[in-house]
Amino acid sequence: MKILVTNDDGIFAQGLWTLVKQLKSIARVIVVAPDREQSAIGTAVTLRQPLRVQRVRPMVSGVETYSVEGTPADSVILALGKLVKNKIDLVISGINQGPNLGDDVLISGTVGAALQGYLRGFPALAISVNSVDSLCLANAAKLAALLAKKIESNALPTNIFLNVNLPNLPLAKIKGVKITRLASGSHTDTATEGNNGKWGYYWLVRQKINKDTDEGTDIWAIEQGNISITPLHANLPRKPSPSIPDSLFPDLLRELQQC
Ligand code: MN
Repeated sequence: MKILVTNDDGIFAQGLWTLVKQLKSIARVIVVAPDREQSAIGTAVTLRQPLRVQRVRPMVSGVETYSVEGTPADSVILALGKLVKNKIDLVISGINQGPNLGDDVLISGTVGAALQGYLRGFPALAISVNSVDSLCLANAAKLAALLAKKIESNALPTNIFLNVNLPNLPLAKIKGVKITRLASGSHTDTATEGNNGKWGYYWLVRQKINKDTDEGTDIWAIEQGNISITPLHANLPRKPSPSIPDSLFPDLLRELQQC
């Protein structure tokens, strides 16, 4: 089995290398990851500047490793399009330092990288731990390896795209594993103002909102001390959007012609 590993916390992140060390016992691992932290960069793809890639010394020996001067999504596109010669069986993004729950998946660089794998027809998973410090990374690394084995043995649907979050707890305190749906809130980003004495500036900050803690959501599962596994997909064209009554726009073309 050959696994591509990337992340959005940057190529030196402890989460990435804890994951790589674990995966190395079950697979050939190749790392292609951003050269710096790119959290909350979402699905961003660099189209207007060249991308520098460097083969770098791995932090786990024997792992082919590339550092990309770009986003997590860029890293996966480059890996699958140019850098990886043989067939990849799975793309894993993480282990992210901090949760990726609810609506946050839409701006998550961790999920954005996994999405690029999924869109190209590869099984993909994003994996995150719900804390920003003193991370219990070992559980997440072991879980990623277990899921990889299940994907290898076709125990899961083929073109699967999973968003996995773990509570930051020792294994004995984790209650269970829940298959969840995305909650409708998680954080909200707002602008604050500051002044350094010379000039004013704005600073964007995240506020936790955890709006939707209904049973069955990813936020609910994590808050109850469970591992949350959310199957994601990108088939928006096949899902109905909320309907807008035709009667709202009877004269739209006429109005357009008049402006
Ligand atoms: Mn991150």
